[in-house]
Amino acid sequence: MTDLIVRGGTVVTAAGAAIADVAVEGGRIAAVGPDLGSDAREVVDAAGLLVLPGAVDVHTHVRVASDAEPDRFFQDSVAAAFGGTTTFLAFNNPGTGGSAAAGRTLLDGLRSWRARTEGDAAVDYAVSLVITPQLEDAIAEMAGAIELGVPTFKAFMVYDFGVDDATLYRALAMAGASGGMLQVHCENAVLLEALTARHLEAGETLPRYHATSRPPYVEAEATARAVALARAARAPLYVVHLSCREALDVVRIARAEGRPVFSETCPHYLTLDESRYLLPSEEAAKYVISPPLRAAGQGDALWEGLADGSLALVGTDHVPDRVAVEKRSWRESFDRISNGAPGIETLLTLVYSEGVAAGRISLERMVDLLATTPARLFGMRFKGAVEVGRDADLVLFDPGARRTLRQADLHHTSDYTPYEGRAVVGAVRSVAVRGSWVVRDGAFVGRRGFGRFVERELERLS
Ligand code: MN
Ligand code: MN
Repeated sequence: MTDLIVRGGTVVTAAGAAIADVAVEGGRIAAVGPDLGSDAREVVDAAGLLVLPGAVDVHTHVRVASDAEPDRFFQDSVAAAFGGTTTFLAFNNPGTGGSAAAGRTLLDGLRSWRARTEGDAAVDYAVSLVITPQLEDAIAEMAGAIELGVPTFKAFMVYDFGVDDATLYRALAMAGASGGMLQVHCENAVLLEALTARHLEAGETLPRYHATSRPPYVEAEATARAVALARAARAPLYVVHLSCREALDVVRIARAEGRPVFSETCPHYLTLDESRYLLPSEEAAKYVISPPLRAAGQGDALWEGLADGSLALVGTDHVPDRVAVEKRSWRESFDRISNGAPGIETLLTLVYSEGVAAGRISLERMVDLLATTPARLFGMRFKGAVEVGRDADLVLFDPGARRTLRQADLHHTSDYTPYEGRAVVGAVRSVAVRGSWVVRDGAFVGRRGFGRFVERELERLS
């Protein structure tokens, strides 16, 4: 017998939208079509609502639970659910002393991360492994991780856990040869250091200098270098958090040449600008994100890149830092402030409101950007579409709702939202993961540990 029929909603795929019913059996979508009847254990009326595939957020820094903060992973997974995200990717960075640090090799780190997140999430999740100079033989272990269903890796061109060009080249080549993909944080470390030092020597320590210490050319140069390294390594390249038209131009040229270069941007680059850094320091620290927020007008260039296919998808770069904890060093100087801002719960809402409702992208393109393409690029073949055979990860979305985003209404583990007070159109009403309701009419009805680790395998990219 059919487990669930969602009746009469507007089912949206990357290719089109039509009023249809969705039938679910055994956690998977069994049928999509008109009038599937009501012979099911549960029938839910979705008239007037959009039926969307759950968003797949491929860029989050959801923290693993610790003794001091045992609910951190679970609680941010609940926030994901409230926002309509049914699968998220986190990172394991054993090269830093932070959250998930344990084990000095890539595979030890993976085993430890798996153990510490097992049975903790409310929605499905996966992980990418960070390649750092602190790890032993990380590049040699990449093939082993791919065999364990973890085919994506991250490397930084800046920070003390960043890699030099030679290591980046070798990691790209290994990924290319073994069916993996590298996600690269592209900024020029030499320029960033020089510009930071110049500000500090001049006594310029306010958060506003975060933006001027890493201007667009710092990002664009590194993006071009990563493209060249990937080209020589015969590897795909995934550029994380692209923030400006200067870097977008680099990606556009590479794609026009037919290279497998893919890039994401983030909601904050689409909806906020650098004027936030002129706020009083404690407030400005909330927007210390890398790359930084850019000049007004840069967001329009990114929306165009999303609309014309130059940018592949939107990920959040969710960092659940708190002003009162991780970011409290805003008093010292801009280069001491923990980088990042929360966003796991506001992805779909912001892209719908500022993208679809504002007329910048179509509903179908939004579904492609938030679900279908991230699932495909990151090797999750059962995710990302309301289509027979896929997991029944469904979002019932009210396109006409109007509300104001407030920290008080959110569920993430940060203590603020960068979108406080922003009026938005549209609201997530109910969310199912593999056919089970996790959010129902705006209330959490899921359970800790329901979320499963998704083993992934990439399509060959060429
Ligand atoms: Mn980054
Ligand atoms: Mn990040």
